[in-house]
Amino acid sequence: MELTQFTIKQAHQGLVKKDFSALEFTEAFLDKLKQEDKKIHAFLTVTEDLAISQAKRIDNLIAQKKDIPILAGIPCVVKDNILIEGIKCTSASKILENYIASYDATCIKKLKEQGVVFLGKTNLDEFAMGSSCENSAFGPTRNPYDLTRVPGGSSGGSAAAVAANFSVFGLGSDTGGSIRQPCSFCGVVGLKPTYGAVSRYGLIAFASSLDQIGPITKTVEDARIVFDAIKGQDEMDSTSVEMPKIENYKLKIENLRIGVPKEYFTKGMDSEVEKAVKRAIEIYKKMGTKILEISLPHAEYALPCYYIIAPSEASANLARYDGIKYGKTTNDRQQVTGDLIDYYLKVRGEGFGPEVKRRIMLGTYALSAGYYEAYYKKAQKVRTLIQRDFKKAFDKVDIILAPTSPSLPFKLGEKIDDPLSMYLTDIYTVSINLAGIPAISIPCAESNNLPIGIQLIANAFEEDKIFEAALAFEKS
Ligand code: GLN
Repeated sequence: MELTQFTIKQAHQGLVKKDFSALEFTEAFLDKLKQEDKKIHAFLTVTEDLAISQAKRIDNLIAQKKDIPILAGIPCVVKDNILIEGIKCTSASKILENYIASYDATCIKKLKEQGVVFLGKTNLDEFAMGSSCENSAFGPTRNPYDLTRVPGGSSGGSAAAVAANFSVFGLGSDTGGSIRQPCSFCGVVGLKPTYGAVSRYGLIAFASSLDQIGPITKTVEDARIVFDAIKGQDEMDSTSVEMPKIENYKLKIENLRIGVPKEYFTKGMDSEVEKAVKRAIEIYKKMGTKILEISLPHAEYALPCYYIIAPSEASANLARYDGIKYGKTTNDRQQVTGDLIDYYLKVRGEGFGPEVKRRIMLGTYALSAGYYEAYYKKAQKVRTLIQRDFKKAFDKVDIILAPTSPSLPFKLGEKIDDPLSMYLTDIYTVSINLAGIPAISIPCAESNNLPIGIQLIANAFEEDKIFEAALAFEKS
């Protein structure tokens, strides 16, 4: 087995037993990504110097016979909308092309304390808006399984990097599916935690009531290790909370009740995806799990509801990019002869890409005086109905099983000119963000060498249930 294929636990054991040093381990990844990322383009910035100094620090600790945490010396890639102090953070937007982060996001601070090695910043759809990584201002990422196809989005760079063994694990953010869908497309594991479980401090905001940071890993066990390291209340994010403690949590897989929403099996689903989901259901049945049909009656409204709420919040969050406080600044200012409005028009006109502009327009419209009640307020009411659907379902079942994406990884260019068909790829993921609950995407099948993922969804703060159910599936 190559070093770059190691899971967190395997790597930790190798480091502790001195089979290899942290520096050798890190260099194996740096060598690989330098050679192979030309064709995939998972990285926007490679932080080689930082990685090497972090790895050397861990080697020193090992030389001093100090006990090291499980994540010490483990390479990680970070979606380029999460801040690492002193490192460029672009959110894949021209408007932040030269922005250097002035502090660490809380999750980065926590991982640094554990001794994680940061290899670089990964590509995404601009400001995390998209499902294919094609909306990046710096060119798309390609799927390691098939270079003519997209890796999914918006955390496509992190998912592709982990799938291509450029890193042991990665961090992504998920507002409407951006961790789970690329993980499904790249055959890796991705967790969207309960809203508030992981601090959003230092995450460039897209839609603040939906955004969550989460792990992208090769195995379920690794996802659990990373989640445990980054979760917890943070005084810098007032929406963050401490996870309630469940003592001695151990799930008997034969006592597990899994619900399958009848509304999810609609005509939009690719037949290969449907086959894969049905196969996953059979695997659980064989383990003795009870499978129940459930109903999420408002499922069909999740997508329109999301595509009102997310752009509304985005239009407010993106107002801060005025070309004065962040990114593009003084040089442009001298080129503009008119007043301040002319300056804003120039900076924002040139700095934002077409999808970001579309979202700002959608959101501004939905929030405008004449339409607020008809769109934004109504969407908020529908959001409550969607939350209630899940609440009711979880009275009857422990876990909900669903496809992650209705389709297999599609070709680059296939959907880019048709925003509606791009939005439709989020049909099974957005409702989870609207409800604020956790979900994992795990690989479950392949079709023509392309991976297919399933989602396991649980009630708020029941990540442990998700991990147990996912581990059992992975083992089988
Ligand atoms: N694809 C969805 C969107 O474009 C979700 C993005 C995300 O989760 N960041 O909004």
